Amino acid sequence: MKSWKIKRPMSWILFIALSFALSSLSIGTAQAEVKVLTSTSDLAAIAKVVGGDLTSVESVAKGTQDPHFLEAKPSFMLKTNRADLFVAVGLDLEIGWLPSILRGARNPKVQSGSAGYLEVGPLVDPLEIATGEVTRAEGDVHPLGNPHVTLDPKRCAKIATAIAKRLGEIDPPHAAQYQARAEEFQRKIEEKTKLWTQRLEKTGIKKMITYHKTLNYFFDRFGIQNVALLEPKPGIPPTSGHILKVVSIIKEQKVPLILVENFFDPAVTRKIQQEVPSVQTRIIPVSVEGEPLIKTNEDLFEAIVKSIEGAAAAAGASR
Ligand SMILES: [Zn+2]
Repeated sequence: MKSWKIKRPMSWILFIALSFALSSLSIGTAQAEVKVLTSTSDLAAIAKVVGGDLTSVESVAKGTQDPHFLEAKPSFMLKTNRADLFVAVGLDLEIGWLPSILRGARNPKVQSGSAGYLEVGPLVDPLEIATGEVTRAEGDVHPLGNPHVTLDPKRCAKIATAIAKRLGEIDPPHAAQYQARAEEFQRKIEEKTKLWTQRLEKTGIKKMITYHKTLNYFFDRFGIQNVALLEPKPGIPPTSGHILKVVSIIKEQKVPLILVENFFDPAVTRKIQQEVPSVQTRIIPVSVEGEPLIKTNEDLFEAIVKSIEGAAAAAGASR
C-alpha cells in the first residue's frame, strides 16, 4: 500500500510526459520534412541553417574524414535512396565515392541533372582551375578547381543561397522561409568575417604551410599566402626529399606557421621542427564536427582563427 502511494504520482507524471512526447512526435510527422543528404559536414551545417525545422539533414562524410577518400558504404546508399535532395560540392571532390553511392541508391530524384541533385562548387567561383590536360594519375589534382570551397565564409553564404533556392523549388510553399534564412546567415557571417579579418591582420602572419590545399579559400579571403604543402602532390604522402625542400622554403621565407588538417599524419612536422625550431605547428579541424564542439560553419572559422592567434602569441613569446 505504501509503495502504491509513492508510485502512483510518478506513473501520472510519466503518462503526461509520454503523451506530450507522442503529441509532439505526431506534429513533427504531420508535416513532411524535406530529407536532405549532403556529401560533407560543412554543407550539412549550411543546409541545417537554411532548412531549419522544415528539413532533416545528414552528411555522408564525417567532419574528421578526408572528403576526397571515403568508402561507398551500403548504409550511405540506403540514406541516399530516401533523400529528396542531395547536395554535393562537385569539382571532383567526391568523384572517388559519390557516383557509386548515387548508382547504388536507385533514387531517380537525386541523380545528376534532377531537381534533387545540387552541386554547389561550380556556382561559387572556384579557384585554381587547371589549364591544359590533367589526369587523376598525378594525384587528386583538383582539375576542375580547388573543391574546398566551404573554407571561405563568404562562399558559405553563396552556398546557403543556392541551397535555399533549390529547397524552394522542391518545397515551394516554404520558398520564402528558406530564402529569409539564407539571407540572415549571409548577414551574420559577413559581419563575423569583418572581425576575423581584423583579428588575423593583428597576428601579422602572412605566410603559412598546410598539408593539402584545404585552406586555400580561407587564405585567399584573409590575405594569407600558402607558400608550400607538406604533401608533394595532392593525395601523395610526404617524402624526405620533399620535406627538405619545405625546410629550405621555411628558412628562406621565414614562414612562422604550419597548419596540419587533423585527418593527416602530423609526424612529419617533428622532423621540420628539428631543423627549424622556431616554426609553430598547429593541428586544426577543417570541417564542421572536425572537433566535437564545432557545430556550425562559424564555429569552424572561429576555431581556425583562434588557432592562428595562439600560434602568433607563442611565436611572439619565443622571440
Ligand atoms: Zn583537396
